[in-house]
Amino acid sequence: MVFFETKSKIVCTIGPASSSKDVLEKMVEAGMDVARLNMSHEDHETARKTFDIIRSIDDTLPIMFDLQGPKIRLGELKAPVDLITGDELVLSTEEFVGDASRVSVSYEDLPKDVKRGDVIAVNDGIVRLKVKEVQKTEVVTEVTHGGPISSRKGVNIPGIKLSSDVPTEEDLKDLDLAAKLEPDFIALSFVTSCDDVRRLREVITSNGPADAWIISKIEHGLAIKNFDEILKESDGVMVARGDLGIEVPIEEVPILQRELIRKTNIWAKPVIVATHMLESMTEELIPTRAEVSDVANAIMERADAVMLSGETAVGKYPVDTVQMMERIIKRTEQTIGRIDPWDITSPRKMIVEIIGNMTYNAVTLIPDKIDGIISATRTGYTARWISKFRPPTHIFAVTPDARVSRRLRMLWGVHPIRHEQELESVDDIVRESTRMLYDQGFISKDKDIVFTSGVKMMPGRTNVTGLFHVKDLL
Ligand code: PEP
Repeated sequence: MVFFETKSKIVCTIGPASSSKDVLEKMVEAGMDVARLNMSHEDHETARKTFDIIRSIDDTLPIMFDLQGPKIRLGELKAPVDLITGDELVLSTEEFVGDASRVSVSYEDLPKDVKRGDVIAVNDGIVRLKVKEVQKTEVVTEVTHGGPISSRKGVNIPGIKLSSDVPTEEDLKDLDLAAKLEPDFIALSFVTSCDDVRRLREVITSNGPADAWIISKIEHGLAIKNFDEILKESDGVMVARGDLGIEVPIEEVPILQRELIRKTNIWAKPVIVATHMLESMTEELIPTRAEVSDVANAIMERADAVMLSGETAVGKYPVDTVQMMERIIKRTEQTIGRIDPWDITSPRKMIVEIIGNMTYNAVTLIPDKIDGIISATRTGYTARWISKFRPPTHIFAVTPDARVSRRLRMLWGVHPIRHEQELESVDDIVRESTRMLYDQGFISKDKDIVFTSGVKMMPGRTNVTGLFHVKDLL
């Protein structure tokens, strides 16, 4: 097991540049906490192979399946073309190899979902089209902002709710694979309402993996509007800035990022900031200063995790990029100051949250004496509510369940430890977990630990916290 000094987590997208055993091992060593398989770019055979390699290298590393959702893409083009402002471009739902005047699109309902005057964005929003006319299988547009397009580039229709359901037919096929492989997280793209999340929950509850955490990707204007209800149904969220920056005015992205992190943090759910974090490292060994500031800023805003996409999937330097991200996180975390825990306490003030609040206060009152928080947890629920306060020490989540242990690796500051034996009393649990952490070299004899757990007679409810000298328990 690798032990990291940092507390914020790194999600890495695995692709051709990183799916070999050798590179994956180095990325784990460099600080990768979660491996993401982007189903937009994976066929099932490759996904299965990569999945098996990751599990064989480190079976404590969680894997995320990121479903494509109703992402629209251009079809094949003979060659990349530069669209000229003022020209006409026809988007067609028929299949053919396109050119500068007529291109195929992957979304059959496009003519049904758009109307005259709507804006269509292509290639990360670089190219803008305005709908002039809608026919049965074709949408005639005027290029209002020219630029390059090529095969399979993304297409967005900002502000429009597509008529296709989420999860889509394609997603359901990917979910069949997920039921067999059992990834730890399922990321749902283009969520627009809590019903999308509920539909996914129904699928995984009946087909599996029933306990996978659902991460809702916030990348549509309607997801912003309906964020509170989406958050309630989800286990975590991703600020998916790539598509979000096309769906809403780009200058809104940093403001929304801060707001979404704050709201998600209140309810002790993990929040990932994604896309373009160290983008220039796809080609170069050194990131731009703006990128370094972006990663640091996400950590200061209290994101649980930061994500790498193309940088690790297809970039030239996947391992160096993870090392760089780890360096930025390490330095930034040294500057995180004390907060008033009541400022971020939820309106519900549940017992578990008060335990988290008390734990934070204990650690910050005597930071030099405390070597860690030990949370004996069955489902990881308590660890979540401790993590949300961002205490300045590691949270050792001791759990008997391998799947719970893997999922907890997404949470800020949580270092999951498996303990297979069932323990009866709180006394036994505190003694046994402290010994185990001491034997593994995580805590020292002359320090203290804060301990949290539930009493056996009330399973699922954390209601005990205490401060112990490590040496008294050995
Ligand atoms: C994004 O749009 O920022 C994102 C993470 O989604 P994807 O990589 O699937 O486009």
